[in-house]
Amino acid sequence: MTSVVLEEIPDRVSLAVDISNCRGNCVGCHSPFLKQDIGEPLTEALIDQLVEENFGVNCFLFLGEGRDPGTLLRLAAHVRSLGLEVALYSGREAVDAPYWDAFDYIKLGPYRPECGPLNQPTTNQRLYRVRSGVREDITARFWHRGVGQ
Ligand code: SF4
Repeated sequence: MTSVVLEEIPDRVSLAVDISNCRGNCVGCHSPFLKQDIGEPLTEALIDQLVEENFGVNCFLFLGEGRDPGTLLRLAAHVRSLGLEVALYSGREAVDAPYWDAFDYIKLGPYRPECGPLNQPTTNQRLYRVRSGVREDITARFWHRGVGQ
């Protein structure tokens, strides 16, 4: 499933794409169907088509990372070659080192119902902005006046 979203990445108009084959194991999983191998394979050509159909987006958000890091990194590089920023929502506590060079934003942490989602100060999840290899925790952006302000 794809959608244009304003809140997931602060100050960005993101084209969000659900990625199946989730290797997370969140107790309160809100999208159990994403643990299955379902949907259409994401390719460079499909990304080109989605970006063309959604004029004005400036960020491409992978909602999940699947089980094929090589393909994910290749597709992330392709997104950047289109002049867009690239973001990843991972349900894991940590991601492989190359991801920090490949993405401009990475969300880490499994969903825990007792902690709440990213927009709750009690959340265990973290959103990082990555610039020149330096990670900045920008999770608090979700806790004030609204995202993007
Ligand atoms: S990251 Fe967690 S909540 Fe999201 S699909 Fe995977 S197990 Fe479910």
